[in-house]
Amino acid sequence: MTADSSIAAPGTDYAATASEAYRAALKVIESVEPRIAEATRQELADQRDSLKLIASENYASPAVLLTMGTWFSDKYAEGTIGHRFYAACQNVDTVEALAAEHARELFGAPYAYAQPHSGIDANLVAFWAILATRVEAPGLAELGAKHVNDLSEADWEALRAKLGNQRLLGMSLDTGGHLTHGFRPNISGKMFHQRSYGTDAQTGLIDYDAVRAAAKEFKPLILVAGYSAYPRRVNFAKMREIADEVGATLMVDMAHFAGLVAGKVFTGDEDPVPHAHVTTTTTHKSLRGPRGGLVLATEEYAPAVDKGCPMVLGGPLSHVMAAKAVALAEARQPAFRDYAQAVADNAQSLAEGFTSRGARLVTGGTDNHLVLLDVTSFGLTGRQAESALLDAGVVTNRNAIPADPNGAWYTSGIRFGTPALTTRGFGAAEFDKVAELVVEVLSNTQAEGTSKAKYATADGVAARVHAASSEMLAANPLYPGLTLS
Ligand code: PLP
Repeated sequence: MTADSSIAAPGTDYAATASEAYRAALKVIESVEPRIAEATRQELADQRDSLKLIASENYASPAVLLTMGTWFSDKYAEGTIGHRFYAACQNVDTVEALAAEHARELFGAPYAYAQPHSGIDANLVAFWAILATRVEAPGLAELGAKHVNDLSEADWEALRAKLGNQRLLGMSLDTGGHLTHGFRPNISGKMFHQRSYGTDAQTGLIDYDAVRAAAKEFKPLILVAGYSAYPRRVNFAKMREIADEVGATLMVDMAHFAGLVAGKVFTGDEDPVPHAHVTTTTTHKSLRGPRGGLVLATEEYAPAVDKGCPMVLGGPLSHVMAAKAVALAEARQPAFRDYAQAVADNAQSLAEGFTSRGARLVTGGTDNHLVLLDVTSFGLTGRQAESALLDAGVVTNRNAIPADPNGAWYTSGIRFGTPALTTRGFGAAEFDKVAELVVEVLSNTQAEGTSKAKYATADGVAARVHAASSEMLAANPLYPGLTLS
């Protein structure tokens, strides 16, 4: 069984059926705005011929993609299942209930909320739900018990006053945390008094004793675990212990690694769901669904999360919730476990491919789906390395490394992820070859003078690497058999 077998609906000739569906759809689009039809065709061609190593991207199945293109898109359904502010939501109720049911079953969570439009929205819903559940102040319980539409101006003022000055402890940006974990460019950095925990300067690993010490000193209301660019597993049981010691709520943002949780690669202490009070995720990264978010919660936090719309969110995207239900149903298939294991195994192979060729990795390796390469030893910034790789058809993103000397814009790292190419069927040998090609580009690229952006790659290297990667991509086609003409 190939790693990508789960993207075909079982028992159907998915390629022929999907080809027919997309040809018909493009014909309809073409009759209104041919340039959009053309861009859509071109996007598939470009995705088919690029080595997609962006750790947060993937390829959803035709079933997931097709589910998003229906009349559910036209329906307003503010509110929650069975309690909507709009009429005629019976089919949206079915869709949302199925998405939530699949999420609960897949992750073993008591409660799931399928409405968040994205990962950032999921985190906002979680923050407000934790605040509404946790903040103990005279009269706040009564305010929380009121429906959001019944709060008077005076109630809102009381709420703002009582919610002020809350503390949040999350992973620092340069060691892999996300903007929504309390950083200034995001509203979470304005809502909360934030402090960060980092990683050990020698090993690059989370030092749980240091997290505990920071928590004891800072006494956060919310301890956030989870990351965008940390290439290691997290012990969520320990994080919960720390949260309990200081009376904090443990919120885990598993946006990046939800696919590894769903595929049972992360179990026991590494599975956040049994340990966190509230778990958030995106559905489109390693989970391989549509773009969107989910919140999972214990019974205690569920009632407040359930008020996500209209507290934080606008009308739910019913067509995307339908696609979440389809993707989650796919992730409950046994083939998804093979896929998730292959994602982790391939990351090992990629990491070994780099280290065996003398490259330095943050933490020295990986045990999840991503690898963080320190490009300073090539004499480049992340920006230069990202651009040189792109010239050769290798799509990555630059990323800060711990204590990055080049800051968050130019950076000194490149982040690689294995979820997308694993969906195409790449295995260990292909990922070793990817490492070889990346090292070939970077070791033949030089910074121009003192510029942090300009660079030059030796003649012929980009073309040679592009040809070698096109060969691997052709052998592992994206949506095999899907033709648009
Ligand atoms: N949380 C984490 C850990 C992420 O890595 C990301 C996206 O990069 C998000 C949240 C935000 O997700 P979205 O782009 O869907 O809002």
